[in-house]
Amino acid sequence: MKVLMDSENPNNRSWYALDVLVEAPASEAIEYGLMEANALGTETIEDGTKVTVRGYFERPPEIQSVRAGLLDALRIYSVQPSVLFELKMAVVADRDWLAEWKKSWQPVQVGRFVVAPPWVSEPGADRGPRAGSPRGVVDATGSSGSLDSLDPVAIARGSDTVIIRINPGMAFGTGTHETTRLCLKAIEKHYRGGSFLDVGTGTGILAIAAAGMCRTPDHQGDYPFIVACDVDPDAVAIAKENAELNGVAERIDFRVGSVDDRTESADLVCANLTAPVIVELLPALIGATCGRLILSGILESQIDMVKARLGELGIIEFEIVRDGEWIAITA
Ligand code: SAH
Repeated sequence: MKVLMDSENPNNRSWYALDVLVEAPASEAIEYGLMEANALGTETIEDGTKVTVRGYFERPPEIQSVRAGLLDALRIYSVQPSVLFELKMAVVADRDWLAEWKKSWQPVQVGRFVVAPPWVSEPGADRGPRAGSPRGVVDATGSSGSLDSLDPVAIARGSDTVIIRINPGMAFGTGTHETTRLCLKAIEKHYRGGSFLDVGTGTGILAIAAAGMCRTPDHQGDYPFIVACDVDPDAVAIAKENAELNGVAERIDFRVGSVDDRTESADLVCANLTAPVIVELLPALIGATCGRLILSGILESQIDMVKARLGELGIIEFEIVRDGEWIAITA
């Protein structure tokens, strides 16, 4: 283990770095797991089909407990534990890792949404030529870009781009995971401004997306009723902070908990959970839906189980959308 002594740092602080080598599709799960293990930040270095996710810690992490936490994170993300290759303490050159870490988070575009970390500045700096879609923003699979170069003219002329500010690494839902992207696309397609219920809000990304699509009140001065719930109180606190970052905190009713038969119904209900949880909650989710229901977090191999439960509950017509091995159902 190597203690990082930052001679430039007036507080003379030490940093500890832990490198986790995994298969590339597991990187978001590992970033999440490291943050849950109290990392101050993570950095992901790609190397072909494998990636190294580096977590920075203030104190030496307990490797065995970090490993257990990472396995939990892989379970939450429905990723096989075999993707985890090795954990090792790293030697890191003296540098401003926080600045480096921030640079590694790029805005992600999903349909009309752009998910960006708070430190990337608003569009307006670059007066480049017009473009059909925001430039400098990458698709979720891309690797470079900055909102600094988002076409300011496109925004000014009423582009429907919705920017979602999310502080990455604190809870699930930074826009890069397939299950979140499927939900954002379904929200773009089906949400028309009625009441909205986000079950398992994580970072709050989906509720913030819905609020961002309704920036102006109706003729009575009201905004749509948006509820976001999560069984994890930490996620709810983070989601609130993110909603504040987006200036929509007053418009979202955040709750610690889940759906049940007393939940007031909403025009659009979005549940990005896991297939077993969806199957268990399905009667309550259907009961809470008076318009459409979006179900995400379902692996290809789990689709039959969800379809069977939908059938038992009388729902036989639905739309299926895929992204990699992930599936979302809109009923
Ligand atoms: N909505 C975000 C986050 C999805 S991750 C996105 O689309 O990216 C799933 C979240 O659901 C986690 O934050 C987890 O704590 C929460 N969760 C798990 N089981 C739940 C349940 N039964 N009811 C409500 N939330 C639940």
